Amino acid sequence: MINLISDTVTKPSQAMLAAMMAAEVGDDVFGQDPTINELETYAASLFGKEKALFCPSGTMTNQIAIKAHTQPLDEVICDYTSHVYQYETGGYAFHSGVSMNLLQGTNGKITADQIAAAIKPDFDWLPVSRLVVIENTCNKGGGSIYQLPEIQPIRALCSAKGLALHLDGARLFNALVETGESPSDWGAAFDSISICLSKGLGAPVGSLLLGDAGFIKKARRLRKVMGGGMRQAGYLAAAGLYALKNNVDRLAIDNERARKIGAILATKDYVESVRPVQSNIVIFDLAGEITAADFLEKLEGKGILGVAFGPQTIRLTFHLDVTEEMMGRVEDILENW
Ligand SMILES: *Cc1c(COP(=O)(O)O)cnc(C)c1O
Repeated sequence: MINLISDTVTKPSQAMLAAMMAAEVGDDVFGQDPTINELETYAASLFGKEKALFCPSGTMTNQIAIKAHTQPLDEVICDYTSHVYQYETGGYAFHSGVSMNLLQGTNGKITADQIAAAIKPDFDWLPVSRLVVIENTCNKGGGSIYQLPEIQPIRALCSAKGLALHLDGARLFNALVETGESPSDWGAAFDSISICLSKGLGAPVGSLLLGDAGFIKKARRLRKVMGGGMRQAGYLAAAGLYALKNNVDRLAIDNERARKIGAILATKDYVESVRPVQSNIVIFDLAGEITAADFLEKLEGKGILGVAFGPQTIRLTFHLDVTEEMMGRVEDILENW
């Protein structure tokens, strides 16, 4: 089976497993796991942030960030396709008691003008606009990419209006290998950043939350109350360190393969339309009466797994466990459907 359901399906390579096996560990609740400490220091310096926090998942890093930046009755401004709104079990309401002010962006991307128009005036009967969340790349937006010049006016607006700015950078490195922009320039533009190690970077578990020392101190407490204080998790942090040092540049291969598949699909009469492919995600709508369920069943029969993103919408995601031979088969099958 060629598994294109997500880039989360990747499994640790032999070299990553060897790094995990060799990890020095300790009890991280007491701050005594040297490998976790090394990962946090490495990631913080990569992004030019004071501190980082290793967490079990990207849902947890995002939810901690929302909780740390807001009070109950505040609101979060983000695109309506955002992971924090769509796919985190409504945790913003549960953990933080906040509401969402959802914007209709373009392929998941929102602008400073849209945000400025959405910030609420100070009345008793309105929630307080407190936090903006940007997603890069935008998952449900088809893997679309923000460039820094699009972020600068959003940063300036948030600073002027006293709003915090959080980046859900689950797949940020898929964007940075395309734009050539640096992690530290992205670090400077946001109050907090979440990075997934368990997507295209290939680690089995883990996400990082980055911010200043005061924010991470608060975040560490919130991680504990959410049940995310781990003990000898340095074995997992070793995989994350390996991923950051070895698996970033090769994300360009996944992006290139997705573009190739998007270009094939765009020429096919079973496809109605393909979202612009900018990174490792291909989202397309099926033509006529073809349902996503029927298409996926037929696709599975040919040895490929994908996922439905709507009644007639499919997502295929490229990642480091797709071999050159598998890629050839995917091209062949979609070309000769
Ligand atoms: C995967 C993902 C997350 C975090 O997901 P976890 O499965 O909880 O690690 C957050 N944001 C985006 C955009 C994602 O794709």
